[in-house]
Amino acid sequence: MSAPNAANAENAANAANAGHRLHGATQLLHAGAPALREGSGPVNVPVVRTSTVRFENTAAYTDFHHRRDAGERVASYGRHGLDTHRALEDAVAGLEGGHRAFLTPSGLSAIALVLLALLSPGDHALVVDGVYAPLRRVDNTLLKRLGITVEYFSPSRDDLASLLRPNTRLVYLESPSSLLYEVLDLPALSAIARERGVTVAADNTWSGGWFYKPLALGANISIQAATKYISGHSDLMQGIVVVDSPALAAKVRTAHDALGLTIGADDAYLALRGLRTLPVRLAQHQRNATEVAHFLQQQPQIGRVYYPALPDDPGHALWKRDFSGASGLVSFALPQATPAQADAFVDALTLFGVGASWGGYESLALVAQPERLREHPQWTHDVPVIRLHVGLEDPRDLTADLAQALARIAEAPEPSARPAAAPFPELLRAEAHLR
Ligand SMILES: *Cc1c(COP(=O)(O)O)cnc(C)c1O
Repeated sequence: MSAPNAANAENAANAANAGHRLHGATQLLHAGAPALREGSGPVNVPVVRTSTVRFENTAAYTDFHHRRDAGERVASYGRHGLDTHRALEDAVAGLEGGHRAFLTPSGLSAIALVLLALLSPGDHALVVDGVYAPLRRVDNTLLKRLGITVEYFSPSRDDLASLLRPNTRLVYLESPSSLLYEVLDLPALSAIARERGVTVAADNTWSGGWFYKPLALGANISIQAATKYISGHSDLMQGIVVVDSPALAAKVRTAHDALGLTIGADDAYLALRGLRTLPVRLAQHQRNATEVAHFLQQQPQIGRVYYPALPDDPGHALWKRDFSGASGLVSFALPQATPAQADAFVDALTLFGVGASWGGYESLALVAQPERLREHPQWTHDVPVIRLHVGLEDPRDLTADLAQALARIAEAPEPSARPAAAPFPELLRAEAHLR
């Protein structure tokens, strides 16, 4: 199931437990644990910082280079990463149930790596339209220039099978989607793509790899911004790509090497440290977010609350089938508020920081950009949406903070009459393009 070193650590621990198969949380805690030397050793993986790698002699140098060229995971140079990197790669490959992991300097660079590794001039890719928005920047800049066509689709509007072309090389999914958390039927979509020989990649940042397993559900590649839940402390930028086969590993490795992507050993260490507590942090994020979501649902000023773990969420049945947990991300609509009132609400919050990104221990709030919402097919409401990242504070303090900020809206003057939501030109153009 997992990469060689992770498998070794796992096997050793399993053997010690007389055949008992270790559960995921236990594997995460022990993945990459350093061997004892002369009877003792540190608990944690050492931080091996280096640029240059030294060899015993010229023959060893040549041997390492040959082995690396043949695809072996040996470091012939610092850019390839040493022990700390290996331990993290193995731990995440094990977490995602994949063959091999690649580390990149940010989540976005992990996305760009996958697109550049798999797509060539003349190729076509289908990307779900609720995708993490900066992917469109990679498309509009690099991919268009290379003559690669990206088409955005929605499983609720489009029939994936009819959109696949002879030159389609990649179907790119993200479930739940960014901002509005639409849950996809990843097994069904993957089956359609794979039947036609098309590779399936999925952004798995929402789950941190812990309660959603895209590779087990049919995807070939799982991408994560380790910046978010794996780090867990808002102190790290990092991306991770996990592939399910040696053939895909060879393709991604070639692009990873050619682009010179690498991360520092200190950052690899921080991600490993984050992994140890991923399950407990996520369980608490879910408890707090559920409490906040229930509170929001009871407030008269608030429209729909977007959180797939809520029983009345349209994605709830799929979420229940395919996920074993939910994150701390909750969005909600303020249907009667003007954009200025939505801004005032966020500004009145005292415990929620105003900022992008998420996945750290702390709560954050942001007014969703209308142009981002319009990229989502179902979005025709034209009302302000607030995205919360519910952190690890006591949820009673978070709901109290939300209540006082909502009261500020109620005190504010009546919103001026707003015109009925008109169809968005961008959306119409996108749909016309799809037909
Ligand atoms: C934040 C995010 C990314 C990008 O990660 P960075 O490390 O910020 O580049 C990718 N996908 C999703 C779903 C994200 O939320």
